[in-house]
Amino acid sequence: MSCLFCKIIRREIPATLVAEDAHCLAFRDINPQAPTHVLVIPKEHVASLNQVTDPLLVGRVLLFARDVAAAEGVAEGGYRVVMNTNADAGQTVFHLHAHVLGGRVTGWPPG
Ligand code: AMP
Ligand code: ZN
Repeated sequence: MSCLFCKIIRREIPATLVAEDAHCLAFRDINPQAPTHVLVIPKEHVASLNQVTDPLLVGRVLLFARDVAAAEGVAEGGYRVVMNTNADAGQTVFHLHAHVLGGRVTGWPPG
């Protein structure tokens, strides 16, 4: 699989890893948009939320994101979990990922 995030899972390209379990991997975004900006991905390749069939997969990603936020110290202050899906949302990497953004106040509505 030539997918960028699959290559990170296989350690074929470097990333700053934050946490890992049997199903998920978390690493720092290369172009952070907040003091905490971590990406959480499933180890199984799924292109986007549109392709998900297993509710466990997204449930694991979401709870892993919650745990990353706690470990990063932003759970209490607040954080945002974002899954950009397809062109209108600006998805650029087509391996499902949750952005965990924290450490600053994020605006609403999002841009
Ligand atoms: P999205 O635009 O939602 O598809 O998010 C993709 C994210 O992946 C962007 O925030 C990028 O900055 C990030 N990204 C791209 N390449 C890498 C990489 N090699 N390591 C870490 N993050 C990356
Ligand atoms: Zn992939």
